[in-house]
Amino acid sequence: MASALSALVLVGAGCGTAGGDAAGSGGPEVIAAFYPLEFVASEIVGESATVSNLSPPGVEPHDLELAPGQVRSLAGADLVIYIGEGFQPAVEDVIGELSDTTLIDGLKTQDGLLEGSDEHENDSEDEHEEGASDPHVWLDPTRVASLGHSVAAEMARIDPDNADLYEGNAADLEEALDDLDKEYAAALDDCDQNQLVVSHEAFGYLTDRYGLEQVGVSGIDPESEPAPGRVAEVAEFARDHGVTTIFFEEQVAPDIAQVIADEIGAEVEVLDPLEFEPEDGSDYFDVMRNNLDSISTALGCN
Ligand SMILES: [Zn+2]
Repeated sequence: MASALSALVLVGAGCGTAGGDAAGSGGPEVIAAFYPLEFVASEIVGESATVSNLSPPGVEPHDLELAPGQVRSLAGADLVIYIGEGFQPAVEDVIGELSDTTLIDGLKTQDGLLEGSDEHENDSEDEHEEGASDPHVWLDPTRVASLGHSVAAEMARIDPDNADLYEGNAADLEEALDDLDKEYAAALDDCDQNQLVVSHEAFGYLTDRYGLEQVGVSGIDPESEPAPGRVAEVAEFARDHGVTTIFFEEQVAPDIAQVIADEIGAEVEVLDPLEFEPEDGSDYFDVMRNNLDSISTALGCN
């Protein structure tokens, strides 16, 4: 495997070296590992570079597998943006072999990362690096702003002619994210409840920022089976705290959320962790605002 990768890297080096124009497009090529990173990259580069997403619509990005063509495209990219610490091991394996590509690990652009809370997973040992940080930083708007500035700084180095554009776009993005942050803070300031019960623990940074508490059934990986007894434990917690809504994500089976909701007479409601590309033409801001409506209704916020 290592030698095959090295050969691919050599092939890629001719068409995508940092600072050079990518074949055909006339601009730098940026590859983002999944949707929120693609969104940020597109906001920063505008029309001055091409941005592609390794996780196509409908593909769960946790533990993404790469097709051979995607491995080749990574070798030819000028900039690859990903989330490290074992979130997508296949991506990290390939980019670990690249020498001419600028890499941004979204976790390294952040201060004060939360610990990955995988204590409820059966298979956490082989799915995630031990002691890995919670990967879901994109659900806190202020953290997305830091990522935007890191992308702008690297793009300014790769493509200095457009440095002002990239930095201006990062400032605009930060302003829009700041507005979103203020909307969240205002809407979640005074609520009857502060416990967010979710199927997949993707909302740790969001609950951390806005003074809520996340209680998850399946840990940080949406496809892991909950530990024995965890469903009953969460149901009991939800009943004790008068929780009225159990959240699940549309793309992953809602069964467990429904079981808990039925047991305590609560509703189930969708909360989107923004891991998949939105399919109906909505973007990061639209989904974040939908989530805010759902959360503030469920928690009885005034
Ligand atoms: Zn996740």
